[in-house]
Amino acid sequence: MNRRQFLKNGLRGTAAYALLPATLLGAHSAMAGMGNGKGNSRKGNSSDPVTEEEIEYLMYMREEEKLARDVYLTMYAKWNTHVFSNIADSEELHTLAVKSKIDKYGLEDPVNNDDVGIFVNEKLAKLYNTLVDQGNKSEMDALWVGAAIEEIDMIDLQEAIDAADHPDIARTYQHLMDGSKNHLRAFVSVIETQGMDYSAQYLDQHAVDAILNG
Ligand code: MN
Ligand code: MN
Repeated sequence: MNRRQFLKNGLRGTAAYALLPATLLGAHSAMAGMGNGKGNSRKGNSSDPVTEEEIEYLMYMREEEKLARDVYLTMYAKWNTHVFSNIADSEELHTLAVKSKIDKYGLEDPVNNDDVGIFVNEKLAKLYNTLVDQGNKSEMDALWVGAAIEEIDMIDLQEAIDAADHPDIARTYQHLMDGSKNHLRAFVSVIETQGMDYSAQYLDQHAVDAILNG
């Protein structure tokens, strides 16, 4: 199967592709200059309460990182490809890093059932099912699903960084962003080892190239 055939059968044009943009909180920042956050205009001190916008992103990112973990655990059970178990371990740390901010600011953790595939956010629950259905088709589909999750995660993390007033919250997201870049490189490495070229699914191709060459 070449890349064109894969994409024809893959996420693009499927329910997943139609569903995903709706789950993103904007998604059009295009990531050309990742890291253009509020920088020194960020003014929240740790003692200041979090804003409504910060709360929304903390809730969302707590579950989005869990979604990554859960999809990778499910794909590892299906395909036994080690990249999934390795990255699932990292996503467990990421979702707990967001939880630590939720706890720090006295917010209610949305995850009261940590089982695989369980989400309070209905869009993420649907997205989990859509991604798993896609990834169950073949190991290669699963690898492209993994790369898609990382691209989407980076788009959402950049928006969360831009929306963060508290520097410690922004730093947590930046740490997760660095992880996502590593994860994208890992998935693409396996895809290319198996003989396919990777092309950007949600980010700009230039942004993906910069990450893969970084
Ligand atoms: Mn992550
Ligand atoms: Mn990741």
